[in-house]
Amino acid sequence: MSGYAIGVDIGGTNTKVVLINEEGRIHLRDSFVTPKGSQALDIVNTIIEETRVFYDRALSAGFDIEGVGFAVPQFCEGKDAVQRQTNNMQSLEGFPMYPPLRDAFGTSITIINDVSAAGVGEFRFGCGRNHERMLLMAIGTGVCTSFVTREYGLLRYSWDGCGDTGMIIVDPFGNVECSCGGRGCLEPLVSGPGIRRRALFEIERGKSTLLAKIKTEKGDLEARNVTEAASAGDLVARDIMDQVGFYLGVALTSYLHIFRPDVIVLAGGVAQAGDVLLEPARRTMNRLASRWYLDRFSGIELSALGMEGQAIGVASLILSPG
Ligand SMILES: [Zn+2]
Repeated sequence: MSGYAIGVDIGGTNTKVVLINEEGRIHLRDSFVTPKGSQALDIVNTIIEETRVFYDRALSAGFDIEGVGFAVPQFCEGKDAVQRQTNNMQSLEGFPMYPPLRDAFGTSITIINDVSAAGVGEFRFGCGRNHERMLLMAIGTGVCTSFVTREYGLLRYSWDGCGDTGMIIVDPFGNVECSCGGRGCLEPLVSGPGIRRRALFEIERGKSTLLAKIKTEKGDLEARNVTEAASAGDLVARDIMDQVGFYLGVALTSYLHIFRPDVIVLAGGVAQAGDVLLEPARRTMNRLASRWYLDRFSGIELSALGMEGQAIGVASLILSPG
């Protein structure tokens, strides 16, 4: 029997909805602006209404829907999927997502952290397809990781993920403070806000860079401007990305030793930087990692599913739990 499932990826800005089959092929897709507000239940009710419209559309098109999966941008605790560390959707902090979604769509729903969902999608239908063990790291506003193996499926260890992996220490002598309260963590050094902060610092120091011109013209600067300037050959932007890639390589070397993936996949906005990020990360791993691990490692790749990986992954968990 070949059924279909709906995946809803609730993002900080937009929510994506897809209908997929067992091969991960998208048959219908839509998106809407993620509702904002101070009341968690109001936000969730609006998401339910929008999802219901998509659900009815798929039903009337004749698709046999087996369930709905929800990928959320924060960690989930326990069977009620209580939201934890809700950085970009703070009104959801402590809110149990499962009860209202179950009441709306029945017990054939699943709720999972979005990076775990992206990992499942990528492992089944993307870069992990031909591998046994895959680590996916999403680098955007924050840093989060998921780990999937063919033998055991998705690692669900801490708050439905594999721990707070952006908090691995890569700069023990540095002074950059992290949102967790510690110092030397990976996240503030390689995330979008971290790259932006470093670029603003270089502009303030009076460095000659294309970034200063962009900031003057736009009145502000985004991490994306830095990665684009680096790709265009701007030396200051390139230095920043070299350092970001170095810290990333330090972290990935540790993850290579701890998890022993055959492939590491990078996803999220910052990963779109491509070679200016990958090249220094690869160079650092080649210098620091154990040869034994490197010989069994195929390398770092960019996500094949891109921004739809989360919705595809969580929908696929409905059709085939793992
Ligand atoms: Zn931290």
